[in-house]
Amino acid sequence: MTEKIATTDGGAPVPSVEHSLSVGPDGPLLLQDHYLIEQMANFNRERIPERQPHAKGGGAFGHFEVTADVSKYTRAAFLQPGTKTDTLIRFSTVAGERGSPDTWRDPRGFSLKFYTSEGNFDMVGNNTPVFFLRDPMKFQNFIRSQKRMQATNLRDHHMQWDFWTLVPESAHQVTWLMGDRGIPKTWRNMNGYSSHTYSWVNAEGEMFWVKYHFKTDQGVDFLTQEDADRLAGEDGDYHQRDLYTSIQDGNFPSWSLKVQIMPFEEAKTYRFNPFDLTKVWPHSDYPLIDVGKLVLDRNVTDYHAEIEQAAFEPNNIVPGTGLSPDKMLLARGFSYADAHRARLGVNYKQIPVNEPHVEVNSYSKDGAMRIRNVTDPVYAPNSMGGPVADARRAAEAHWVSDGDMVRTAYTLRAEDDDWGQAGTLVRDVLDDEQRDRLAHNIIGHVSKGVREPVLSRVFEYWHNVDPDLGKKVEDGVRNG
Ligand code: NDP
Repeated sequence: MTEKIATTDGGAPVPSVEHSLSVGPDGPLLLQDHYLIEQMANFNRERIPERQPHAKGGGAFGHFEVTADVSKYTRAAFLQPGTKTDTLIRFSTVAGERGSPDTWRDPRGFSLKFYTSEGNFDMVGNNTPVFFLRDPMKFQNFIRSQKRMQATNLRDHHMQWDFWTLVPESAHQVTWLMGDRGIPKTWRNMNGYSSHTYSWVNAEGEMFWVKYHFKTDQGVDFLTQEDADRLAGEDGDYHQRDLYTSIQDGNFPSWSLKVQIMPFEEAKTYRFNPFDLTKVWPHSDYPLIDVGKLVLDRNVTDYHAEIEQAAFEPNNIVPGTGLSPDKMLLARGFSYADAHRARLGVNYKQIPVNEPHVEVNSYSKDGAMRIRNVTDPVYAPNSMGGPVADARRAAEAHWVSDGDMVRTAYTLRAEDDDWGQAGTLVRDVLDDEQRDRLAHNIIGHVSKGVREPVLSRVFEYWHNVDPDLGKKVEDGVRNG
């Protein structure tokens, strides 16, 4: 085998990969040693800013195939019967930094990109059907409270509970987080949810509200707090390793996509606001409808190019799909694309992993690192045959909104409370053993540094979720 000659980034053969150029063996180094300088300079620039949040993650390529018929709800090409679409997925933790352990208790990101025949569709979901907040004004502060203290640079349970107990809309998600599903056994053993309500539009222009549920075909499984703590020391990349080796061994994980559909008009009078991200739609009201199967069958070959630079954004929506009045979702429509511009540069959609598999006819032009530019005409409207808008998409149904400008939570309906669904989860879904582990996890978490006056608020918080659980938590923490 002929040896490959090492080159500079400019392609020229390098004289040495081991020795720098100096005046005599002990002499000063020379500025014209371009290769040394290129190596040092590039090394200094290898890391790009980590995501804020969701910094630690991993992913894989795969495909999604529609196995049922939901064409009466959406005209999206990638959701029509029998259609197969290439996909990319990224799993992540939320609060941990890039090198942090995979097994810390945290929700997990479940971000999907579908390279559809009508452009990219992204579902930037989580492994939980709800979230801590219903208003994006709180999001930045929420994430800060889950990360590190400014002076000590330490994570701090007192700070976390301070925020949660002052924001009772967090109760449903915190209950879920402290339960078994708060530390999945592997990424393969967790469900993915859109959490948000989105919209679908069918070929007749009728609009529906939709929630996406990717149910793991491997079965939901979890780690106990004790196993997770041990693994955090033994193998911080436990989840990433599991996914990579499973796919490498030909053991391809899959998820069955199901949706809940709410007719457009029902949203107006449903017993709670169906766009509230802290709530699920009960299955008994809106049963799961089969759509198709997602299979992960190809590992990435360049983590940096294909995962670290992967850019998912909820506003990547295709004809027949859309957003909803969920305030968290609407804010994410801005903030995700903005995060990518900040981390990756304005032309991040030209990084191959982010590129649609269809022709791009955008009027965006120029900017740093652009590698494919537009052609004339560079403006619209024009009379030179430039791309024109899709009139059918413009005519797609929209929701109607009116009223004074206000800063408030949703208009209160009968069940727009903060505690109800958290209590249902504790009392009606969990069995005795799961409830015991939930209390055990809360007691362990709170016992690490939570002080008054936050401590009393913690007991009140759990009493509000469920009186029995509240008593167990208070007894457990007070009696050590
Ligand atoms: P259901 O009895 O129909 O559904 C309960 C759901 O809870 C299950 O389908 C399962 O979701 C999920 N679940 C099971 N075990 C756990 C656990 N240990 N931790 C967290 N979730 C678990 O009741 P409802 O639809 O009326 O919902 C009741 C409660 O269930 C909700 O308040 C919510 O907390 C929780 N839930 C509801 C979901 C929904 O979309 N309706 C989804 C997930 C949780 P899955 O089938 O997705 O695995």
